[in-house]
Amino acid sequence: MIKVQGLRKSFGKLDILKGIDTEIRQGEVVVVIGPSGSGKSTFLRCLNFLEVPTAGEIVFEGQKIVNKQSELNAIRQKMGMVFQHFNLFPHMSVMENLTLGPRKLKNMSKDKAEATAVDLLRSVGLEDKRNAYPDSLSGGQKQRIAIARALAMQPDVMLFDEPTSALDPEMVGEVLDVMKKLAQNGMTMVIVTHEMGFAREVGDRLLFMDGGNIVEEGVPREVLQNPQHPRTQDFLSKVL
Ligand code: ADP
Ligand code: MG
Repeated sequence: MIKVQGLRKSFGKLDILKGIDTEIRQGEVVVVIGPSGSGKSTFLRCLNFLEVPTAGEIVFEGQKIVNKQSELNAIRQKMGMVFQHFNLFPHMSVMENLTLGPRKLKNMSKDKAEATAVDLLRSVGLEDKRNAYPDSLSGGQKQRIAIARALAMQPDVMLFDEPTSALDPEMVGEVLDVMKKLAQNGMTMVIVTHEMGFAREVGDRLLFMDGGNIVEEGVPREVLQNPQHPRTQDFLSKVL
């Protein structure tokens, strides 16, 4: 579904991504781990051209992504993104947050968009929050709404950048449960996370990034139990 070849990204003189090659297959759940500053967010943001790569190419569903606004809009609609800090629209109700994209970008009728939104709210366990405003929600609820909002656009792949890192510990589980259900339903997912238990249980493949490279990859359970590269060993010895 996504093919990444020779991906490099520099900010000025700083080389942040130094040549990433990988493929993400349909239905695959790819978990990305690595130390802070290793380029995980930059990698994710390059996948949908929120950051324009300095070199290399990304092929999405057979089509090379180019930096052309008209094409990027279509591609971003098919790549849902969930951030650490939710990024809900604070002045809109939950229902408005969920229906804005489908109505404006997909020309969906209000009725259809709201019906879809109600289904999604049910699937994330927040049916009763349709009229609530983001301020009144807990962090875990906000993040489940953010996931539902991304899903409302019917994406082909979901990108998650540390979706539970800003949450109080007791709310992490409810968000991971939603993501696990999505994975079980066959969604293609790329997930930057520090939740090693989730990575092991839900991930099909784990990428370990360090210094702008994928240093090691493999079946999560195997990499986590028996890391081959010294940098992976060092990182895991600190977080596990
Ligand atoms: P991670 O998500 O693994 O913590 P990031 O991809 O956020 O890492 O960042 C990797 C490096 O790139 C960091 O040193 C960061 O400061 C730098 N960086 C990220 N975005 C920018 C930017 N827009 N301009 C300059 N440097 C950036
Ligand atoms: Mg990051």
